[in-house]
Formats: sequence, structure tokens, C-alpha cells
Amino acid sequence: MRPIKAGISLGAMAHNLRVARAHANGARVFAVVKANAYGHGLSRARRAFAAADGFAVLTLEEAANLRLMGVEQPIMLLEGLFGTDEITACAELGLWPVLHHAAQLDWLERVPPARPLQVFLKFDSGMHRLGMPLAEHGVIVARVRAMAGVAGITLMTHFAQADEAAGVDWQLRPFLDGTKTHALPWSAANSAALLRFPHACGAWVRPGLMLYGASPFADTSTRALGLKAAMSLTSEIIGVQTLRTGEGVGYGQLFRAERPMRVGIVACGYADGYPRHAPTGTPVAVDGCASRTLGRVSMDMLCVDLTGLPNVGIGSPVELWGAQVPVDKVAIAAGTVSYELLCALAPRVPVEEVE
Ligand SMILES: *Cc1c(COP(=O)(O)O)cnc(C)c1O
Repeated sequence: MRPIKAGISLGAMAHNLRVARAHANGARVFAVVKANAYGHGLSRARRAFAAADGFAVLTLEEAANLRLMGVEQPIMLLEGLFGTDEITACAELGLWPVLHHAAQLDWLERVPPARPLQVFLKFDSGMHRLGMPLAEHGVIVARVRAMAGVAGITLMTHFAQADEAAGVDWQLRPFLDGTKTHALPWSAANSAALLRFPHACGAWVRPGLMLYGASPFADTSTRALGLKAAMSLTSEIIGVQTLRTGEGVGYGQLFRAERPMRVGIVACGYADGYPRHAPTGTPVAVDGCASRTLGRVSMDMLCVDLTGLPNVGIGSPVELWGAQVPVDKVAIAAGTVSYELLCALAPRVPVEEVE
């Protein structure tokens, strides 16, 4: 069998949820499990995060799957309803949709659900992605409060720079000052905000990334945050080449040997979800030792430096990311974020649940 596999630790996920709760300043915790639980599998997330106060997903289908799996906690729909045809199922499944646009208010008035819904009313406080204008909060809250189809409101916003020096206050202050007259519960924090800004936690927090053991901050490691990597991507050396000075390796011959050296060929490529843009020097662990990739990643293989590793050969283990090689480091080297790498784990990679 091709030796690549992903190991997913439900224990690490459960641990990371406890870390989130410890930071949440008393807020209840929605485990964000969109995108197949950031590549970790919805069913695994359901089991690992059984102690969460709620789950957050994008689609009705994901929410219905969670209900089929026996989830009884609140389930939040992060982008709310995509049409009036979803209102009935939303009520039947007891889901909590986000209302982020006036069109969604129109739909709920036109097709009132049989059972009134708990809703999140989302205001734009500066990110300018989803959310209704903060300046209109007065009329909007009054309108939604009057709806027969709405049982309760939580105010919501989302931060654009919680992981950066700019922080959250430039958005949080106007959001809270503007809406405090309504005396409603609120939700604002993603992983980065929850870890750095306890005053941004409100009634409900919405951590995603941190639950999977990756750091939302470019300058703070997973370990420093007390998180455990939930996913490892591992494979083995399936070929060894000896290069003479000046010889190149792989497509485009992007890497050339400056001295004679051994190169390991690893059974992992971009069709497995490893980033093709990872350049020479991207960190990797070979037989437990820190090493680096060489040259261009191909569809099914990549090359690693075996300098100083004379005992490594066919069958030696390679960690592409996991406990030894933080996924954040691989992401930074490849010019992306760990979110993208975790979500992109390819369906062809067999997954094994580990301790
Ligand atoms: C994805 C998402 C989150 C989780 O963000 P992380 O950075 O992964 O913690 C929180 N809130 C909303 C609205 C989201 O879409």
C-alpha cells in the first residue's frame, strides 16, 4: 500500500476544546466544524467536541448530518439561509441561522417558520464582508424583534484583524457601544480573538482553527498556546538518489546540488494536499530529524534532503506536518495559512484515528 496517511487525534481535539474554554471568559463555546471540520472529518469532530456547547457549520446539509449523528446542542449556520426553501428544515432541525442581509429578513417575514428560530443578527463592524450596516441597528433589531418567526436574538460581528497588531477594539467598541441599548447577548470571537482578547468573548465564542491545534498567529507557536496538533500527515521514503555537484532534482530542476548529496523521494505530492508552492527549504521531519524539501513538489512525490542522515533509506518515515513539524511552519513557507493546508487534505489520503 502507498505509505501516505493522515493521523487524526480526537484526544488532541478534545484537549484543544478545553484550552478554548479556559480562555473563553465564561462564554459558551461553538465548535466551528465547517469544511469537513477543517479537513478532520465531521463525525470525528462531533465525537471529539462532544463537550462543546454548540456547533457551527455553513450548510443545512452539514447541520442535518450532525443531527443524524445525535448532536443535541445548538447548531449555528454561519452564513444563514440561502433561500426560503431552507426555512422549514431550519425550524425542524432547530438550527440557529445567522441573518446577515435584509433579504434574509424578508424571507423570514414572508415564510414564517412553524417553530420560531433563535437567530444571530450579524452587523458589519468594519470587515465589510457579511453583515448589515451597524448604523442601522436600531430599525433592524426592532424589525427582527417583531417577527413571529424569531424566538430570540444574539448580536454578532466578525473581526478582520484579530491575529494582527491592529487587534479587535477598532471594531468591538463601535459594535458594543452602538448596540448596548438593546441589552442582547453577543458573539464576536474567532480563535485569535478568543486567545488574545478576553473582553471580546461575549456570550458565545466561535473557535475553529485552534481546536485543530494550529496557531492563528504568525508569531506564536502552537506549543506556546498550549495546543496539540490534531492532524499529522506522514509518509515514507520510496526512492533515494545520489546527486553530483551541479545536478538538479525534479521538474524544472529548481534545486541543484552544491556538493555531492543524497536525496530522498517521498510518497506525497500536491494530489495529496501538500502545497505545490512549498519551495526548497520547507520544513519536514525525516526519521525524526529536521530536514527540508528540495525543488518542486510534483503530483505524487516530493524530494527531501538526506544530508547528515546516512541511515535513512527506503521505508524511512517522513512527517510532512504534525507534532514535529507544525503545519503553520509549512504554511508560512508555502505562502499560505494552515487553514488552507488542513482543509485541502485530499480524499485519497487514508485517515487513521490515533491517540
Ligand atoms: C470560520 C469562522 C470562525 C472560526 O474562525 P477561526 O479563525 O478558525 O477560529 C468564526 N466565525 C465565523 C463567522 C467564521 O466564518
